[in-house]
Amino acid sequence: MRLILLGAPGAGKGTVAKLLTKMDGSVQISTGDILRGAVRAGSDLGKEAEGYMTRGDLVPDDLIMGIMEQRLQEPDCENGFLLDGFPRTIPQAEALKAMLAKLGIALDMAVDIDVPRDVILDRLTTRRTCSNPDCQEIYNVKTMPPKQEGICDKCGSPVIQRDDETEAAISKRLDTYNEKTAPLVGFYEKEGLLLSVNATSSEAVISGVKERLAG
Ligand code: ADP
Ligand code: ZN
Repeated sequence: MRLILLGAPGAGKGTVAKLLTKMDGSVQISTGDILRGAVRAGSDLGKEAEGYMTRGDLVPDDLIMGIMEQRLQEPDCENGFLLDGFPRTIPQAEALKAMLAKLGIALDMAVDIDVPRDVILDRLTTRRTCSNPDCQEIYNVKTMPPKQEGICDKCGSPVIQRDDETEAAISKRLDTYNEKTAPLVGFYEKEGLLLSVNATSSEAVISGVKERLAG
């Protein structure tokens, strides 16, 4: 399948993407993960992106489009892809549309995962992430803590709070989302690709996607 996952930070895009990859071998592409990897590696891309990310701002569109143009042409994308965190702005969506047309690739749908703001805020402030770059398992101190406090179940590395998951950065990210990314819902509706799911459970989102793919 070829899917775009829309939804505010904390809506569960990453979780849904991971579940969907298990269905048909489509690859999850998270621009957030790619950027955090670049920051850790200290690459030119990372140096350029870091400041924006820590403030909860978006990284400039041209930087993101450069990354995605390459990524979407890698061989593992042939079986399908799930875009998690991209596109994030109308210019990115327009550029993606042109790029896919050029490559002869058609999208199946854009899924908007709609979760109430209070649920999102609660999730993000309690979210913790494995610090091991090759693992990045997600935990939640309230609902899904690691078996041993602060230690990843999967790899044993420390589980930490992301720099951009302080209260101030979270509220900035939500404002940025509403201003820059929420308009993509209308964009994909016009394209005839939108599937909106009002859901706080990832299973409900998966069922909605399956239904749409089957119909
Ligand atoms: P979340 O969805 O939880 O906000 P992500 O992991 O998707 O977080 O992204 C983290 C940060 O990386 C964003 O706050 C932003 O600075 C940057 N980023 C990720 N994807 C994009 C994108 N498509 N365009 C611009 N900036 C991006
Ligand atoms: Zn881990």
